[in-house]
Amino acid sequence: MIIDIPTKDDFFSSADDMVNEAWEKINNLSRNYHEIGESLIFLKKYNAPTEVQVLALEQFWFKERPKLISALTLILQSVEFRLKGLIAEISPYLLLSSSSKGIPKADKNGIISFAQFHSVDAQDLVKVYETFSNKKLNMKFKNWYEDIRILRNRFMHTVDKTSDINPEIIFKSIIIAHKYLVSVNQNWLQNRLNYLCKASEKEIDPDELGRLTLMVHSELFYVVHVCSREILFEIFKYDKSHDEDFCLNCLNVMGKYEFFDSRYVDFCIGTIQKNKRTHKYECIFCGSEQSPKFIK
Ligand SMILES: [Zn+2]
Repeated sequence: MIIDIPTKDDFFSSADDMVNEAWEKINNLSRNYHEIGESLIFLKKYNAPTEVQVLALEQFWFKERPKLISALTLILQSVEFRLKGLIAEISPYLLLSSSSKGIPKADKNGIISFAQFHSVDAQDLVKVYETFSNKKLNMKFKNWYEDIRILRNRFMHTVDKTSDINPEIIFKSIIIAHKYLVSVNQNWLQNRLNYLCKASEKEIDPDELGRLTLMVHSELFYVVHVCSREILFEIFKYDKSHDEDFCLNCLNVMGKYEFFDSRYVDFCIGTIQKNKRTHKYECIFCGSEQSPKFIK
């Protein structure tokens, strides 16, 4: 008898933990990068910053390269777990490598733990899923998955300085994986908020929801700081060069946080922008439609 058979939910839950950890890691680094940049601006106003201070900013991401590579690995593991979850939903036994020679020995009671079996290679997960499912994965996802696996392997097996890594690759990877494997309807920011709500040790009352909403808005601020206009538009449909306004709905939710201070909004972006597809002014965070101040 086989015991400890994992379910789709087991895989999905672990995948969520991994991808959120990657997001948090690189978001914290982005905040450090922003703070070093701000202190340099301050120093330049009053006296010339030292060469060490300038280099701290210029070489920041190169020095943090191992953490970026580790975050990329976490994202790939989370994608593999998502794919395994999809396969487990059809049948968990499809996750076992097919060779009958590799069947582990049962204990004296005839019991074998599922974890003792060899599982299918990560590179075969898409093939296994598509063979046994009546659905196909999106071609854009499959191309991205292949590219990012090759990139990760280069970092893991050799010192390849020609293929560099940066925070944009991490943030873009998180959004693509979310869009094609989790939900096209619920954006990553809402998904991130839901994850924090589930992980919160407090009861989710308006105070706690306000605190967590503020946290995710603040995370978005640092992503916007380190990503290019092109990448931001691709992943959030947010255009750095266009007019923006704060979302009244999001502000209302954040304002319920007991210790909310209006100065916190300095570390949030205006999430209301014109949606190029619908031509409506919508919040890229909560999706609410509003009339921003700049068109009045
Ligand atoms: Zn909003």
